[in-house]
Amino acid sequence: MEKKQVPAIGIDLGGTKILAGLVSSSRLLGEPMRVPTPKGPDNIIQTLLDIVEKFQKETLVLGVGVSTAGVVEPKSGEIIGSTGNLPGWTGTKLKHIIQDKTALRTVVENDANSAAYGECHASGLSHKTCVIMVTLGTGIGGGIILNGRLYRGAHFAGGEIGHIKISMENKRLCTCDRWDCWEAYGSGRGLLSTGWDLLQGLSEDKSVLVAKKDSLTTNDIIDAAKAGDMIAKKAMQLYHQHVAFGMVSLCQTLDPDCFVMSGGMSKFVDLKLLKELVQDWTIPVISENLEIYPACLGEAAGLIGAAQLVLDAVHDVEEVGAAG
Ligand SMILES: [Zn+2]
Repeated sequence: MEKKQVPAIGIDLGGTKILAGLVSSSRLLGEPMRVPTPKGPDNIIQTLLDIVEKFQKETLVLGVGVSTAGVVEPKSGEIIGSTGNLPGWTGTKLKHIIQDKTALRTVVENDANSAAYGECHASGLSHKTCVIMVTLGTGIGGGIILNGRLYRGAHFAGGEIGHIKISMENKRLCTCDRWDCWEAYGSGRGLLSTGWDLLQGLSEDKSVLVAKKDSLTTNDIIDAAKAGDMIAKKAMQLYHQHVAFGMVSLCQTLDPDCFVMSGGMSKFVDLKLLKELVQDWTIPVISENLEIYPACLGEAAGLIGAAQLVLDAVHDVEEVGAAG
């Protein structure tokens, strides 16, 4: 029993900053440390090793969990997918490097998957059949947890839900170079595109947003909608529909117990309205008991999830050992 209380180190490697902390029972112990992400894979690896060493000096730890951008092959912990925010990072065998240098059990996981795992376990949802986390930011990310375990897919890209195609009109080009992906509509960038579409041909007396057209931001639209601007309100109404579209596809495919909504844009989503829209467009047997929850871990979700993955991996080994 005592061993389970020993924490793991969780590290969230972002494009601009690294967050790290000690995690036990899906909870962060104390404030996370944050350092700027250095340039180049070698410097990043050294910084990660320095962080692990610092924690190791202070306390006994069970392992290291790293949450990183990119598609990750979980067995080798190699980053196999492209990572625009971390140039040169693809091909890094991060798990082996950290394990060899620190002698600590290491898990490397995609950042969206890590965050989904962290939120699911911290919210007490790990006993559910299917939990889907949707992260609404400048893009849309996500993670799928089945019976408390991450669903990674055949090519480790399961949960790349932002690229669900939601239209055949070839109107909006996505960051993946394909047309009309969900994130071209349901992300912050998508809301901005919706705003621009609505402002086409409008005179200044129709909306306060017309004057800002060239420098329009998502916050302009959100603020104007709150102040009662009809065009901005229409943009927010369409935005809720766009977010619901992708969730309906996920509902019909996976029949989830619930969604957990995270990311900067989720703060501006009316979850009650979103639930009504999703329920309207989903068959009753799925929609009747569907829940939509707000995320609870904030920016620490990725590091907490990655650390919890390594804690659970160690615990699994112990259980298998005990059974054998
Ligand atoms: Zn796409």
